[in-house]
Amino acid sequence: MGELTVPWHRLPDMPLGPAKPINRALAAALAVGAAGAAAVMGARAYRAGAGTQAGAVDAAAHPAGVGAEHAQPAADRLSELIGYRTVFSQARDRIELDQFTEFVDALARLYPAVHQTLERKFVNGHALLFKWAGTGPDAEARPIVLMAHYDVVPVDTRDNWTHPGFSGHQEGGYVWGRGALDDKGALVVIMSAVESLLKEGFSPAHDVYLSFGNNEETAGDSAATAAGLLAGNGVRPWMVLDEGGAVALEAFPGLDVPAAVIGVAEKGGLDLELLTHSAGGHASTPPRMGATARLAQAIVALEETPFPASMPEAIVEMTRRIGMNSGFGLRLVTENMWAFKGLLTHVFGVLGDETRALTRTTVAVTMLEGSKASNVLASTARANANIRIAVGESVESVVERVRDIIDDPLVQLRVRSGHGPSPVSSFGNEQFASLSRAVAASYPEAVVTPYIQTGATDSRHFTAICPAVYRFSPLLMDVSDRGSLHAVNERVRISSLGSGVVFYRELLLGLG
Ligand SMILES: [Zn+2]
Repeated sequence: MGELTVPWHRLPDMPLGPAKPINRALAAALAVGAAGAAAVMGARAYRAGAGTQAGAVDAAAHPAGVGAEHAQPAADRLSELIGYRTVFSQARDRIELDQFTEFVDALARLYPAVHQTLERKFVNGHALLFKWAGTGPDAEARPIVLMAHYDVVPVDTRDNWTHPGFSGHQEGGYVWGRGALDDKGALVVIMSAVESLLKEGFSPAHDVYLSFGNNEETAGDSAATAAGLLAGNGVRPWMVLDEGGAVALEAFPGLDVPAAVIGVAEKGGLDLELLTHSAGGHASTPPRMGATARLAQAIVALEETPFPASMPEAIVEMTRRIGMNSGFGLRLVTENMWAFKGLLTHVFGVLGDETRALTRTTVAVTMLEGSKASNVLASTARANANIRIAVGESVESVVERVRDIIDDPLVQLRVRSGHGPSPVSSFGNEQFASLSRAVAASYPEAVVTPYIQTGATDSRHFTAICPAVYRFSPLLMDVSDRGSLHAVNERVRISSLGSGVVFYRELLLGLG
């Protein structure tokens, strides 16, 4: 996921509230969904533990072993591909372009059938767009786009990795290294699935596109360019599938099986600058309500007036599906979840920062600036508000509300950058059903559920040309694995790579 990704965070045990049995049961049911949403969204707080104990992790927690025959070949390819330092940077002279070139060359060597059969286009230099032409009578109808990105976030050399960050080392049932989960792992299982199907002589009825980004982590424009290319050729995808959710173990208290959480939408992002001015001068004779005081007042107003909460349907559905499978005997509650929507919204609001973020637009003031010297009054003071926009709102509506909350015409607002939330894709359509069937084939024990993610992915650039955009990587991750995303000791289970290949194979076979 990209730079808007909220760090993964493990929620502490849920407070179950008052002791009346019915209240306790209800609170537990709500907590199940709430904690799950939060845990799926993030677990960075856990990473210190995860990182230091990484040598002791147990990769045998996926007993089904679906796709075992695909696992080791995929792992070996991933090991090599992790070795290329494909770190994209906004400073172009810091990018090791030869590493991107070598990655692309390696891909051609590792996946000869794909490169022989599919048409390959370069986008923006090093992003890749493959076309697997359908052979059915109506090949151009219902095309699908499978996405991943192969740029990665840097490895901080001060971090203490168990195996070097770009080693691709295999040990303990894992492939270790930057990009193992985010997102070279997903790229490898897509390519391995297509390669294996080609070798078996399969050809899809409808066109299949593979779009692999080279600058997702820096919110680059390659995915937008690829979407534009497709649009220019009249391609209107029937479905787009990118990274996002995962097959999450230990994400929901009381749920003993993995949850395959499929993102049906993602929040928007906005950097909004707040600016105030005053005459400046010497600090020995300050005016009343100078630039810094006025700015502080605005920040406090934002802090004290949260955006209104609402409960997205996808999160209600997630709570219901997890509750039904959590073994708590809470079906009475979860089967009537719609009636509890108001209460659910309230509970999400008070449970914790992560669950609260699912139900509303959030505002975090991240950067502050006053004068440059200790005895000089600021003539200009500025703050940056980093805002994550909930589904149903827009950049414009958020700016308007911020203006209302601050209620001071002398505080200027300037949009530095921003994009609205994605539209919400259906979880009741044929596309979602086909994803669910592919999960059932690859992770038979998993509960499939929609959710809304707080982080951004490249797939947002495709929502303009496709109403059915989903965010899911078929890779199994427990809390400790999830904690390694964008952190130290990133790693992926080798067994899960095999299941991931099966997921994409089943998806493609199922679509004919
Ligand atoms: Zn990613």
